[in-house]
Amino acid sequence: MNSKENASSTHSSRETAPEEYDLLILGSGTGSKLIAWTFGGQGQRVAVVERKYIGGSCPNIACLPSKHIIHTAQVASYVRRGEEFGIARDGFRVDMSAVRDRKRKMVSGLVDIHLAEYKRSGTELILGTGRFIAPKTIEATLSDGTTRQLKGTNVVISTGTRAAMEPIPGLAEAQPLTHVEALELDEVPEHLLVIGGGYIGLELSQAMRRFGSKVSVIDRNGRLLHREDEDVSEALRSLFEDEGIELTLNTRIKTISGKSGQSVKIAIEQNGDTRGHSSACCGRSRSKHGKYRLGVGGCRADRSWVRESR
Ligand SMILES: Cc1cc2nc3c(=O)[nH]c(=O)nc-3n(C[C@H](O)[C@H](O)[C@H](O)COP(=O)(O)OP(=O)(O)OC[C@H]3O[C@@H](n4cnc5c(N)ncnc54)[C@H](O)[C@@H]3O)c2cc1C
Repeated sequence: MNSKENASSTHSSRETAPEEYDLLILGSGTGSKLIAWTFGGQGQRVAVVERKYIGGSCPNIACLPSKHIIHTAQVASYVRRGEEFGIARDGFRVDMSAVRDRKRKMVSGLVDIHLAEYKRSGTELILGTGRFIAPKTIEATLSDGTTRQLKGTNVVISTGTRAAMEPIPGLAEAQPLTHVEALELDEVPEHLLVIGGGYIGLELSQAMRRFGSKVSVIDRNGRLLHREDEDVSEALRSLFEDEGIELTLNTRIKTISGKSGQSVKIAIEQNGDTRGHSSACCGRSRSKHGKYRLGVGGCRADRSWVRESR
């Protein structure tokens, strides 16, 4: 990896001919990095343009940090339940800031492993935001504002997914957390609301419950992980309820008002019953009303949302 050297010899003029590569990749995520390292290791001239996350979402903000948090939550669960196993304990507190720091350390170690692999394979990592300016030609804007023009004999686009919000009135204004921020929490949320019982929402729900949050999951479908077999959904329902996670299914969120971290009110429609909607807004089972901080914990492709309240 010689991105620093290359950054210093940056091309900033459009008249300059693009730098030529055998393989040019936009985005350094899971699939593309293996392609890059494989062909780079075989002696091809390979460059990867990455705007933020070296190694993509998985090691930085998705799979691995979430599994790290889940594992820590499992440890917290064991400690909390220690007396069940005959292990006495005095006092118990989750230091979310320390949990987060430990996770950050893991991420940083993973990034180092990625950088070493770039170096070993001779693949050039260019830290910048890329955009196509001509066929097979990308302009990368580096952090200092300068640009480089790059052309590949072969080009791979691997820009992944990102957190996105459903067009629920009031959701964007509530400034919910995405999964990125949810994995960066430095305190245990008092009440976490999860919209969408998909895998991302569920894993974060369970982890936060085990850390000590009150957790509520809202899903428009009649069962969790509705694309899975029914017995899987049923097993999860049973497990989640056993852990004290509130499930509100067959429910659509109509509107959200308020702001994450302050006061948020949610109006819902349950089991397709819209008739009682406006009065039900004030009812306990049909509305969530309180001092909520909202967060989003999924990415667009995953359709899951985590909303945190405290
Ligand atoms: C919370 C969470 C947990 C998950 N857990 C699992 C799991 O346990 N197991 C599993 O298999 N999957 C899991 N996933 C899904 C998994 O993370 C994704 O499927 C995977 O990361 C997608 O990889 P990708 O290479 O397609 O995209 P990404 O990893 O998103 O890589 C795309 C890269 O392109 C970069 N990029 C985008 N546009 C540009 C641009 N214009 N210029 C430069 N760079 C750009 C981005 O910064 C990013 O680094 C999870 C996802 C989330 C959100």
